[in-house]
Parts: sequence; C-alpha cells; structure tokens
Amino acid sequence: MDKKKIICVPDEIWKCPMLHREIPEGLCVDIYEAMYGGLKKSAVPEVKDWEKASKMCPECPYYFEKS
Ligand code: SF4
Repeated sequence: MDKKKIICVPDEIWKCPMLHREIPEGLCVDIYEAMYGGLKKSAVPEVKDWEKASKMCPECPYYFEKS
C-alpha cells in the first residue's frame, strides 16, 4: 500500500473588523460562501447580521476575493 504523508496547514488568524475578534481564515471563507449562496447562512452562526456582513466584508482587506 502506498503511504502518503498528510500535511495539515493551520489556518491563518485574521482580526475581523465585523465580528470584532480574531477568526481563522476558514471562517472568513465560510462567511463569504454563505453570503453568496455557496453555504447555508445557518451554517455560520457567528454572523448575526448578514446585512452588516454584506456591507463590511467587501471593504475588508481580508475579503476572500482580494486575498
Ligand atoms: S472579509 Fe468579512 S468575515 Fe472576513 S475578516 Fe473581513 S469582515 Fe471579517
């Protein structure tokens, strides 16, 4: 059997101006996905105000499309 090495790369931690705390990069991507329909909004309970997210995220330097 071919043994393959699994390498885990930890998420980067970003200071999220919308949630006012540090979040892993993966949560930011999930928020992006939920905003545009790739994920159910209920899968991201950290976001309480999606209107605020849709205004703040595109202006954020960590916005998924800008990274
Ligand atoms: S893009 Fe949105 S979710 Fe990601 S860090 Fe910026 S404000 Fe937070």
